[in-house]
Amino acid sequence: MKQRVHGVIRGAVQGVGFRPFVYRLARELQLTGWVNNSSQGVFVDAEGEPVALVSFLHRLRHEHPPRAFIQSFEYAFLDPTGAADFVIRPSDPSGEKTALVMPDSALCDDCRDELFDPYNRRYRYPFINCTNCGPRFSIITALPYDRPHTTMRGFTMCRACQQEYEDPADRRFHAQPNACPVCGPRIALWDAEGRSIGADDEALVLTVAALQEGKIVAVKGIGGFHLVAAASNDDALSRLRERKHREEKPFALMFPSLQAVRTACSVDEHEEQILTSPEAPIVLLRRRVTAIPGFIAEGVAPHNPYLGAMLPYAPLHHLLLHDFGEPVVATSGNRSDEPICTDEHEALHRLSGIADLFLVHNRPIARHIDDSIVRVTDGRITMLRRARGYAPLPLHLPYAVPDVLAVGAHLKNTIALSRGQDILVSQHLGDLETREAYDAFRAETKEMQTLFDAHPLTVVSDSHPDYLSSAYARSRPEKQVHVQHHIAHVGACMAENEIEPPFLGVAWDGTGLGTDGTIWGGEFFVVREKRFDRVAHLRTFSLPGGDQAAREPRRSAIGLFYAIAGKAVFDWQNFLPLQTFTDTERATLRQMLTHKFNTPATSSAGRLFDAVSAVLGIRQRNTFEGQAAMELEWIADETGTDVYPVVLTPSTARSGDRNGPHVADWEPMVCAILEDQQAGLSTHIIASRFHRTLATTILSVAQHMELERVALSGGCFQNALLTRLTIETLSAAGFRVYVHQRIPPNDGGIALGQIAAAAYMGML
Ligand code: ZN
Ligand code: ZN
Ligand code: FE
Repeated sequence: MKQRVHGVIRGAVQGVGFRPFVYRLARELQLTGWVNNSSQGVFVDAEGEPVALVSFLHRLRHEHPPRAFIQSFEYAFLDPTGAADFVIRPSDPSGEKTALVMPDSALCDDCRDELFDPYNRRYRYPFINCTNCGPRFSIITALPYDRPHTTMRGFTMCRACQQEYEDPADRRFHAQPNACPVCGPRIALWDAEGRSIGADDEALVLTVAALQEGKIVAVKGIGGFHLVAAASNDDALSRLRERKHREEKPFALMFPSLQAVRTACSVDEHEEQILTSPEAPIVLLRRRVTAIPGFIAEGVAPHNPYLGAMLPYAPLHHLLLHDFGEPVVATSGNRSDEPICTDEHEALHRLSGIADLFLVHNRPIARHIDDSIVRVTDGRITMLRRARGYAPLPLHLPYAVPDVLAVGAHLKNTIALSRGQDILVSQHLGDLETREAYDAFRAETKEMQTLFDAHPLTVVSDSHPDYLSSAYARSRPEKQVHVQHHIAHVGACMAENEIEPPFLGVAWDGTGLGTDGTIWGGEFFVVREKRFDRVAHLRTFSLPGGDQAAREPRRSAIGLFYAIAGKAVFDWQNFLPLQTFTDTERATLRQMLTHKFNTPATSSAGRLFDAVSAVLGIRQRNTFEGQAAMELEWIADETGTDVYPVVLTPSTARSGDRNGPHVADWEPMVCAILEDQQAGLSTHIIASRFHRTLATTILSVAQHMELERVALSGGCFQNALLTRLTIETLSAAGFRVYVHQRIPPNDGGIALGQIAAAAYMGML
């Protein structure tokens, strides 16, 4: 079946023969569609056979005209339009000449060659860059993008740099962060008291020696600090975990080279493309079973079949990794739940007790931007965290939206601003759990508005009144609009896939406040006629302890089976979740459930994952968000075909309300799981059946609603197995399935969804 790719290419792609190149390539691959120039970049729209499209995307990046340079290439797979031919469309003058803020871009090959060329005047200079690469969003303080409007304003170019800057034939013509060892920023190594113990190359030599000794070094990078330690040094890593209070959450790795990545992980051609792209995100890669023991210490990502790998992107990283020669852990320089540090003096204070040394520099960072995290499945990207390299590029909608600000959710917060057909989604701002995180959220919201000169008429927030983002929205003078959390999830998927209603939206995640006062998270909506109607949901159960249940899957398990068996569940001898509580705790739980005290009802799919994980003895307590569900995914044997029974009950059967939502009942499934477990069936097979059953559950709702198109959103679809099985199951039955591509399925997409859903419902 034909597919269509729609994308925008930015960088040095105009006036260099790029459109004729795209045209010839598309013709050769028998694709139809168009290419044009606009103030936003080069737009490409191509449809054809999937294999031809994959080749098209690959060759666009690798065979373009020599003078062209692709700084960013974002694309999405959309429904084919049936174009008959491939054409070069006239340039689009309409799109208002909105100043585009480019994301930070990894060091280009030309600069890399110069960096390691002893005869170049920038040999080993940690701030080398050119028009094609270097910091952008992280140094911009105002528009237009000119040196005085960047954090480079304090550095006056020397004559040699100024000449390059003014020469249209030079690679550094109008490169705003242009600098050299004579005139530009410099690095220094500080001890824990902030005393400089070395500058320039000496700082690097000392840093490498410190890493070899197992020290933890805070390194100031592009969008903030990393905490860096040798990836092979278990001692150093356990110290880092202890100091950061980070028990088992995996650390990201930076490798000296692609080859080094390959010794630890398997890397396919798509993954390689993303790893080496100018966006240079962290890519989740499957570990190689045959990796050299000790090359990557167990403490990097305990019990985790994946590693988060990235390549050096700043010249400073290139130097450090080149000299050190081995992979390092490069985790965000923060205390848990706080935003990453961007200023060296602040870092000295906030990272005191964590970092032994500080590798700093005097180029200020305008805003914190974390590393992006992606996963690549069958050549398609799933964005798990969208930040450096991607933000703040806009998502272009097929329709215009009034000027609004959307403030997102609570966890994995992002904000979004609309301007006409463009939605600017901020970089990942983090969980709004601490004072520091909330302050950073407010500061960045203000900054984004100033930078883009945005004057929103409306502020959209989650309908949960207690989210700090919602509280912030209330403090603003503009018109207030609330969008229910899961409606926003579906709205986000609708927007980025340009889905025309009617369609079925599936929103599965951990938590979101529903319109009926229960906690939603296993929701189905029919989207049509400017409405999102909740047509089905997973059966609800009680969560003893409320929020505590998100951290303790065993509580979900007890709540789930209490819904089936009542108090009798407390007498079950072999029920693993129960065994991890003391007698007193058990008595309290029983009290809570029988008196319905602090036991909110939930239809959350995330909590269902937790419950099953606990029942199978995989995880009773999470050390980081989503851990129990991830471990359930990882152990699943992917080869089986069996499913447990699914029951879809019409609403009349339960509430008597003919128009109420259907209920997808997990009771037969979880009872079968208990039986399988007691019969000694391996948890690998049970976990696999569980995932398949959930896919089948989505299928039965889709079949019942008789809508051909189904959109999948919410944090549960970060689960690659669930997503793959759901797509396979639905596709085999003739449905068209849409998933997130450029923004995350998790709450990082809520801000975009708030705007899209509110616009669709006519609330703006
Ligand atoms: Zn460059
Ligand atoms: Zn200079
Ligand atoms: Fe969510």
